[in-house]
Amino acid sequence: MEILKGIGVSSGVAICSAVLLDAEEYRIPRRQIAATVVRAEQQRLRQAFSQAAQEVAGLQNAQQELWDSKIKDIFAVHLHFLRDRTLRRQIADLIEQQHYSAEYAVSVVLRDVAKHFSQASDAYISERVNDIYDIEKRLIRHLIGQRREDLAHLSEPVIVVAHDLTPMQTASFDKHYVLGLATDAGGRTSHTAIVARSLSIPAVVALGQVSEKTAGGDTVIVDGHRGLFIINPDEDTINEYRAFEATILEHIHELDELAQQSAITTDGVTIQLLGNIEFPDEADITLKKGGDGIGLYRTEFLYIDADHEPTEEDHYQAYLQVIKIFGNSPITIRTLDLGADKFTQNRRSAREPNPFLGLRSIRYCLRNIAMFKRQIRAILRASAHGNLKLMFPLITNLLELRQAKWLVADAREDLEEEGIHFDENIQIGMMVETPAAALMADEFAHEVDFFSIGTNDLIQYTLAVDRGNEEVASLYSPAHPAVLTLLRQVMQSARRAKIDLSLCGEMASDVDYTALLLGLGFTTLSMAAPMIPEIKRVIRALSMEQCRQIARKAVGFDTDKQIISYLRTEMQNILSDET
Ligand code: PEP
Ligand code: MG
Repeated sequence: MEILKGIGVSSGVAICSAVLLDAEEYRIPRRQIAATVVRAEQQRLRQAFSQAAQEVAGLQNAQQELWDSKIKDIFAVHLHFLRDRTLRRQIADLIEQQHYSAEYAVSVVLRDVAKHFSQASDAYISERVNDIYDIEKRLIRHLIGQRREDLAHLSEPVIVVAHDLTPMQTASFDKHYVLGLATDAGGRTSHTAIVARSLSIPAVVALGQVSEKTAGGDTVIVDGHRGLFIINPDEDTINEYRAFEATILEHIHELDELAQQSAITTDGVTIQLLGNIEFPDEADITLKKGGDGIGLYRTEFLYIDADHEPTEEDHYQAYLQVIKIFGNSPITIRTLDLGADKFTQNRRSAREPNPFLGLRSIRYCLRNIAMFKRQIRAILRASAHGNLKLMFPLITNLLELRQAKWLVADAREDLEEEGIHFDENIQIGMMVETPAAALMADEFAHEVDFFSIGTNDLIQYTLAVDRGNEEVASLYSPAHPAVLTLLRQVMQSARRAKIDLSLCGEMASDVDYTALLLGLGFTTLSMAAPMIPEIKRVIRALSMEQCRQIARKAVGFDTDKQIISYLRTEMQNILSDET
């Protein structure tokens, strides 16, 4: 049994066998084969060894004069393994005795070799671990060849283990079969983590070497609460986790009873709790969890498995689906936030050196006017049927906001000419998720109907910390005084201009910050649906007076560590008094 510690980004527990995604994002299958094909499988193995050895020898011969002795050494090591009959025999034996597929047998044996190497006291040997992984990859590539499988065709429950996952990949998992996720990389507010939370799939990221330490088929536990990942747990641990799982389900069940009660403080102030969704079918769960509407619909996920660009009709139908669930309750549709880690099919290859500072979001839309207008027209058309609001992401300057609004005006004119109905009074707002927007909130407030603060990006850009990079995850802090200063400033600007303000970043669903946010004046919070009942419970235990006092004191500290430790203590005291 081995326990790894990472960052729990989606709570819950899953116990199941692991499926490993290789570097090219294909699954390394655990496939039991029939006794009758053992010989054929062993023949495939021999062939893969010989093809891989030929490939390495070819690489070694080409441009030999350019390489220094270290590189030659590496190729010699690879060839040594690929020509090692004992190693091949060991794998072939597993195929024969366990009826494992060749891919799976390669993975099991080479990971075992890697484990032994990594424990060696001789530095030369322990440094060879990465070579073993390379050899494994090379063999599997030859074995899989045309028989590659992706996760779209699962037929049994699994926990997906990978170096990293893209948000689109995560969103495409079949949640009936993918019970948990674990990755080497990632951060709490990376989009992958956000999607996992929305889908209620327990997930732990930033585990470092989970994809190297786990073999496909290992029994593993994902503990999204404590951020733990356990490989090959013993019987006692499994039993302990089964009991824990039952307690969690009971807790969720209890919280769900709050769903239909309002989020009202002990002194009678009602807080509006809205849902963040990526797909129209999440609207239903948002309603069931007690959401008062949708505060953020991340429409870029319409591109998820689109082999074609979504049409105006695709957009329109998706929005109608949400309206059907929420009737006249507010639904904020955010225009496409593509780019950075959220790629469309055809942009995947266009790599940028700094994608989060690159052609993403509103910038991408303003470069692709036809695409942008299709979406705007669809939002306007759908606005005739419900209480829609339109919101632009990642605004940094007034000109881009004006250009985007001008496109809306243009679409309105077109629709009028075509005699198509839309809500004449549709509200147009913007996300405040860059320091530029926060610092100029007074100016922006005159040009929009509402603000929604996207703390995920606001924190990333204010603190210069990549929200998806596990190496700097400890520096990513909503409690940083600079972040709180910006939140207060945006609040003041919104109040002065008398426009609505909400907060839709992950900070809204973190109980540590609920009292602070209420105390700073936020009365609308938007979050992943599964978090709504928990936040409702907390709000129902707080008084506004208490919140204001907490906020006053919190903003007086000058480090995020002091602030978060103060907030946690306060929240614990309040919640323990309540129970
Ligand atoms: C944010 O940045 O806080 C936000 C809500 O948008 P997203 O997480 O989709 O970038
Ligand atoms: Mg954002």
